[in-house]
Amino acid sequence: MKHLVWYRNDLRIRDHLPLTKAVAAGTMAAVYCFDPRHFAITRYGFPKTGSIRARFLMESVSRLRESLNGNLIVRIGKPEEEIPQLAAEAGFGTIWYHREVTQEEILVEQDMKKAFEGEMVSVPGHTLYHPDDLPMRPRELPDVFTRFRKQVEKESRVRKPLPAPDRIEGPLPGIDYGDIPDLEELGLKPLAKDPRSVLPFEGGEEKAWERLNHYMFKSDSIRNYRQTRNGLLGADYSSKFSPWLAHGSISAVSIYDQVERYEEEKVKNESTYWMKFELIWRDFFRFSAMKHGNALFHPGGIQGEIPQMKSDAELFRRWADGETGIPFVDANMRELKQTGFMSNRGRQNVASFLSQDLQVDWRMGAAWFESMLIDYDVASNWGNWAYNSTVGHDPRNRKFHVTGQAKRYDPKGEYVRHWIPELAMVPAEFIHEPWKMSPEQKTLFGVHIGREYPAPVQL
Ligand SMILES: Cc1cc2nc3c(=O)[nH]c(=O)nc-3n(C[C@H](O)[C@H](O)[C@H](O)COP(=O)(O)OP(=O)(O)OC[C@H]3O[C@@H](n4cnc5c(N)ncnc54)[C@H](O)[C@@H]3O)c2cc1C
Repeated sequence: MKHLVWYRNDLRIRDHLPLTKAVAAGTMAAVYCFDPRHFAITRYGFPKTGSIRARFLMESVSRLRESLNGNLIVRIGKPEEEIPQLAAEAGFGTIWYHREVTQEEILVEQDMKKAFEGEMVSVPGHTLYHPDDLPMRPRELPDVFTRFRKQVEKESRVRKPLPAPDRIEGPLPGIDYGDIPDLEELGLKPLAKDPRSVLPFEGGEEKAWERLNHYMFKSDSIRNYRQTRNGLLGADYSSKFSPWLAHGSISAVSIYDQVERYEEEKVKNESTYWMKFELIWRDFFRFSAMKHGNALFHPGGIQGEIPQMKSDAELFRRWADGETGIPFVDANMRELKQTGFMSNRGRQNVASFLSQDLQVDWRMGAAWFESMLIDYDVASNWGNWAYNSTVGHDPRNRKFHVTGQAKRYDPKGEYVRHWIPELAMVPAEFIHEPWKMSPEQKTLFGVHIGREYPAPVQL
């Protein structure tokens, strides 16, 4: 019997246990399904996966096919229907895969088990700490990050990454390997890349390693990560590893391993520690999703208490399109819509603004991020949204004073001007509050509120 590796958001050949096992076990091939449910229109009226992430996904799958010597079968359809059928036709007796922790993905695994007659072998592979190495059972996970972090730092260790298999055989005879679809085939509109993006993000494992080598070893940017991580403009204020991590083109374990290598070869400081610290946040959200299940998507989140909120479609639209009249919010939202990326500082602010200032249902914001983000990750996205909307893990109220944040993190208004050309002439004094300009100043700087740039939403 032949072996099949089922790929989902683990699109790499290095540090990939199911692939290593399948290669060692005998004749094998791999499969990826473009699941139409991932590209369907959500109840909020936009696609679950927007064009920017879909393009990155296609690039990632295409590069994976190259790394697998062409031995990646591609299907468009539901995995739980396509894969058992493929297995029956081509004689695959075992399916190897990385298991998931959230409802939609678990249901697919369960349905696959019902339809597939052979053996299914799953292993965890998305986190930094292997679940077996945690000092607590998942259901005993502390609800406060700091307690989790201190416990794992003290009592757990990060395993070493696996190398890629030495040799991967080419396509097996008699199987239709299928084509990688384009955006139109998935019902999405093509979108040109915006040159203002922090990076021209390209999908694939090699690109992930190129970025890692640049950020750590060539530009040495990690050396100052702790100081620069709240930046807004440019490629190197933070690692930008997230799109590749979210698609599994590189594992968190491999990144951690490279940080340790950097520490040995170059310098070990608070910045290198902080990179590990952020990867522990990522683990925390994933283990928390495991613990809390669907509460992650409920209006009251894991706290269970539903906050004051409304489903105001027009307010939501202004927020999503970057037309709230609050420049810092609008600049971030336009960056997201045009490029699929937004800094962590921006994400915190716009999430707090939507859910706490505008009091719009935070789940609409999380769903918009899901559609738009190139680095969308179910646990990190919904977990962070809940956190910033008072229904997540933080016992404190995470309300951001957006104008104060704008003045602190974009003191000269360079970021706002980068994304809102209408405000290009406005001096730093007024850039974050253009409505405060006198009529003469508005004329002088070419911005009339309500004409060239919207009046601020009523809070
Ligand atoms: C409302 C909101 C939604 C978010 N949605 C996502 C999402 O869908 N996918 C996603 O990967 N991140 C998400 N984040 C977390 C964070 O903003 C991004 O991981 C980070 O901005 C990505 O940029 P970077 O890779 O340069 O990060 P760096 O600052 O270089 O950090 C390195 C890595 O650490 C991890 N990390 C850093 N901060 C966080 C965090 N707060 N939570 C979880 N992991 C973190 C990421 O994997 C990141 O790639 C969200 C944050 C907020 C506030």
